[in-house]
Amino acid sequence: MNRVRLLVFNAALGALDYRVPDGMAVEPGSVVIAPLGPRQITGIVWENEHLPTAEVPDAKLRPLLAALPVPPIRAQLRRLIEWTADYYCAPMSAVARMALSSGQALKGAKTAIEYRLSGQEPDRMTPKRAQAMDALQGEQGSIRELAELSGTSEGVLRGLVNGGVLEAVEVDLDRPYPRADAGHSLVELNPDQEEVAGQLVEAVEAGKFAPFLLDGVTGSGKTETYFEPMAQALRMDRQVLVLLPEIALTEAFLKRFEERFGAPPVVWHSSLKSSERRRAWRAIAAGEAQVVVGARSALFLPFARLGLVVVDEAHEVSFKQDDGVRYNARDVAVMRARFEGVPAILASATPALESLQMAASGIYERLELPSRFGSAELPDIATLDLTKHQPARQHWLAPPLVEKLQERLDRGEQSLLFLNRRGYAPLTLCRHCGYRFQCPNCSAWLVEHRLSQRLACHHCGHETAPPAACPDCGEPDCLVACGPGVERIADEVREVLPEARVAVVTSDTLGSPERAAAFIAEAQAQAIDVIVGTQLVTKGFHFPELTLVGVVDADLGLEGGDLRAAERTYQQIAQVAGRAGRGEKPGEVLLQTRHPEAAVIQALVEGDRDAFYEAETEARRHAGAPPFGRWAAIIVSSEDEAEARSAAKLLGGSKPAADGIDIYGPAPAPLSLLRGRYRYRLLVNARRNADLQKVIRSWLGGHEFPRGVRVAIDIDPYSFV
Ligand code: ADP
Ligand code: ZN
Repeated sequence: MNRVRLLVFNAALGALDYRVPDGMAVEPGSVVIAPLGPRQITGIVWENEHLPTAEVPDAKLRPLLAALPVPPIRAQLRRLIEWTADYYCAPMSAVARMALSSGQALKGAKTAIEYRLSGQEPDRMTPKRAQAMDALQGEQGSIRELAELSGTSEGVLRGLVNGGVLEAVEVDLDRPYPRADAGHSLVELNPDQEEVAGQLVEAVEAGKFAPFLLDGVTGSGKTETYFEPMAQALRMDRQVLVLLPEIALTEAFLKRFEERFGAPPVVWHSSLKSSERRRAWRAIAAGEAQVVVGARSALFLPFARLGLVVVDEAHEVSFKQDDGVRYNARDVAVMRARFEGVPAILASATPALESLQMAASGIYERLELPSRFGSAELPDIATLDLTKHQPARQHWLAPPLVEKLQERLDRGEQSLLFLNRRGYAPLTLCRHCGYRFQCPNCSAWLVEHRLSQRLACHHCGHETAPPAACPDCGEPDCLVACGPGVERIADEVREVLPEARVAVVTSDTLGSPERAAAFIAEAQAQAIDVIVGTQLVTKGFHFPELTLVGVVDADLGLEGGDLRAAERTYQQIAQVAGRAGRGEKPGEVLLQTRHPEAAVIQALVEGDRDAFYEAETEARRHAGAPPFGRWAAIIVSSEDEAEARSAAKLLGGSKPAADGIDIYGPAPAPLSLLRGRYRYRLLVNARRNADLQKVIRSWLGGHEFPRGVRVAIDIDPYSFV
């Protein structure tokens, strides 16, 4: 009897057994279609011993319907899926779904018809046709894609097809990617880089698990350095996975990669077209995609022969996923490397405290690049005490900072102002009655965006046009903005430096790879004098003429008071400071603060990272916080406030008493209403040696909740709201 167990993509079902019909070949990892009642479901064949299921007698088993034409999911990835589900208390099916992340790819090889300009003129020209022909120079795609691209209708394009202006071409959806060449354009490394690269190349050659922390100051050439082990992997015909925290950063990376290796890498992120996803997925599974650059979701791709994993800007909080499977891509990346038996490189100028601790305890090997490449020096960092140098009323830039901006402008150099707040103002009031504009779905204020003329919630995306009158007292024209966002700072710059060309850089203005590329090109061509940006501009960018960085409010990040507030402030400011003086001219950084004496500000000014991290480490040790103890957050939510409260109380009333584990709450979460759901929170603190996951699983497993209640478990949480 040929009986197999499947992992199916439905958390409630988990695992199901089936019979393999005669003539069908499956093995562990095979992706198959199976019947479930009247429906068909997709599943992955799994080892019996790794996946418990209700035993069904052989005679009752239904046969599999088909094995899909893709390579089996390898054991290494199956083990990673199990580990991730286990560690983050998530359903295995939800993790596995991230591995089969292209439905199209599972259907096998395929061709499609695409269209491109044939060179023939239409018999009759219309404005729409002219517009389409203009926009489609050098483009190729489906009618729908081309309509979108050209801003015309599909009808217009069909007309052009009939007239022979657009010609059909049959394309192989799985056509190969251009090959990257390890020796395309060699870079001469400096002695520090050479030494570090040498060790990393050796590790790739050895083909064993080896986690490295590549700890190099901003501008030290970490990318050039980790390109060498990547080249080694290419020479060995092994694949490389590079995780980047932000799509906006990908553009700069792609350019550098292509210069070094002669072809672009394969890109993976959530906004790929479905045809691009399938092509990438299949090339990755076939072992043909050599280097894959992606956001955290690339972590679970089915590489055929991975040789190296790189996580750049590894300290970034955006590697932590905060919905669905709540995992930390930085940590899972190291586990992936471990299961694959290959090296992992975590690169950062401001490593996470957890990573430094792993290095201190000898688990990661730390490799240092202590100075900037070439003649560039790290910038000078000084404070600007806002209690002594007050900005004018309703202004946020202190006079000494304005003077420095003016100097840079006069010299034709660039400046960057950093404020981690999108929009024009974080809070909008009615000047007549004091009414505060609040999100109807969240316990949060609406943020005014003047560029798009909207009031927006940054939590749920709710937007409204600013009303003509106060909804409460009816006063017309009543809106008054409180506090600054980047748009308001940009206005202030335009007011004090009328001749400056100002660019606002946030996820609102730089949302797509194309816009990111356009911004980089403009900044490099010096068509921008002052950049005003959020955390998006703190990392990765390299503008040689940028010599001044002003941090508008260095105290902002410390306000929330969560576990990592000081560390995050340090990282953010050190990173944004790292944008200054990357070329020949020295950089200068001014931190506007009301607390120049604060430890984190002092550490930044003195450039004493070690002292800061040591103090932080001691504070964490004392508090039993990571990496010395562990936290988990349990969020109970419902659209019904009473239902959420009683479910949370029920959990609170059955707190297990376990050695080394303390449980706090329930209490209303700081964001007590989010996307229309009322939220209560319990926090679990565990000593290192306690089995946190086991305790949580057996505690939560003993409860049945009403259908409207959701219980989310966040292991090693980053967000405490
Ligand atoms: P990091 O990522 O460490 O901040 P980058 O990798 O962006 O630093 O390097 C900073 C700048 O120095 C980049 O413009 C890079 O091209 C240049 N650079 C670094 N190392 C070399 C090298 N060995 N040869 C030529 N240019 C280099
Ligand atoms: Zn909202």
